[in-house]
Amino acid sequence: MKPIYIPKGKAKEYGDYAINIYTGCPHRCYYCFAPGVLRREVEKFHGCVEPRENIVEEVKRQLDREAITGKTIHLCFTCDPYPGGHDTNATREIIKAVKAAGNHVQILTKGDGSRDFDLLDGEDWYGVTISCWDGMAHEAEPGAVLPSERVEIAARAKEAGIKTWASFEPVLDPALVLRTLDASKFIFDKVKIGKLNYHPLPGVNWAAFGHEAELLCCQRGLDYYIKDSLRKEMEAAK
Ligand code: SF4
Repeated sequence: MKPIYIPKGKAKEYGDYAINIYTGCPHRCYYCFAPGVLRREVEKFHGCVEPRENIVEEVKRQLDREAITGKTIHLCFTCDPYPGGHDTNATREIIKAVKAAGNHVQILTKGDGSRDFDLLDGEDWYGVTISCWDGMAHEAEPGAVLPSERVEIAARAKEAGIKTWASFEPVLDPALVLRTLDASKFIFDKVKIGKLNYHPLPGVNWAAFGHEAELLCCQRGLDYYIKDSLRKEMEAAK
């Protein structure tokens, strides 16, 4: 088993290396792509969540065997590093191992990772996904921490000296994303903006959304990245 891997395709836009720690995710986002990628039944993916077998030991072994150092490693793509209601000691132990080998982590969560802030420093990234606001999230992401709380937790990470970022993808509420971008300067050191792929969102002009988002980022001096799928919509509308 080689749990540290180089992401391909759309996932490559998030990082050069990644680790997926858990077998599933209880957050139950309706748009979740992971069961399809992992070829797991949807109900089992959301209902049966545990650390992958020997994941901590295997990560340590691979770090040592391949002398992986000086990298930023993304946690996680096909699960959440902080699955609500579950023991997240595996995440903590992996962060310790990754950093002890001279690497840094780039966390992306819809959970609460504040328990591990003591392990992180100014070269690590704590990131949250924001797709919609609390009212919509009750239905769209029923097992996750509410978006407003995610932003509050990210603000605490920034206060603690950790770099912070937001992934605005998938976008379920374009207007909310634009409002959040407008206020992002004081919370997020970097933002990544995408669209909603694989599901319909009637009436949304993605090109217009992308241009407005990019303009806001420029006006507010944000470090931003437009995901390829959204950039293509913007280019196609020219
Ligand atoms: S947080 Fe991510 S992995 Fe978990 S259900 Fe939502 S989309 Fe899937």
